[in-house]
Amino acid sequence: MNTVSNISLSVLLSVFALLRSEGNLFIPLQAIDRSSTNSIVLTDIGEFGLLRNERPGIPAHYHTGIDIKRPSGNYINEPIFSIMEGVIISKRTDGPYAQLIIEHQDERGKFWTLYEHIAGIEVELYQPVTPDRPIARFMNTMELDKYGWQFDHFHFEVLKVAPIPLQKDRTKPERHFSSYTLVCYTREDLRKYFHHPLEFLSERL
Ligand SMILES: [Zn+2]
Repeated sequence: MNTVSNISLSVLLSVFALLRSEGNLFIPLQAIDRSSTNSIVLTDIGEFGLLRNERPGIPAHYHTGIDIKRPSGNYINEPIFSIMEGVIISKRTDGPYAQLIIEHQDERGKFWTLYEHIAGIEVELYQPVTPDRPIARFMNTMELDKYGWQFDHFHFEVLKVAPIPLQKDRTKPERHFSSYTLVCYTREDLRKYFHHPLEFLSERL
């Protein structure tokens, strides 16, 4: 048995995919194999390391994570899970850029995971998390209509180095860190700060 068996792909997948709607429990939508990364589907431009074109106010940069598609047709409450045990160290709840950063520690040391374009955050700052309970969900239909359907995925990163501490911001009181998401201008930057998420998961599953 893998010593880091806590790692699970549940981050990506609705393991039970139970639709909880107004207290009604529907049948499971699908059973997903959590022992491999095969069932992870990325958006068309969701791969790690793709060059993102310059846009107003943001220079061209490399894509520092992967953009994971919703695993089912659940546009109500498709859950998102932490990949393993950890502690929430930063939380941002503003609309389409809502984000959680989790600090993890295993026998190889510390690393950090980031989940962005999420909604319905179910965890508190400094709360310890486990991979068997949702930390958030994909945006629902109403939120996508409001913010744009380009957010019909969530962005997932694995950081090799600690995220960047932020000054206090009254408008985002629980956002304590930012990632290197928009500041990777070279392949070296990318390698310095980030693991390739799918390789990382495959290695540690
Ligand atoms: Zn992304």
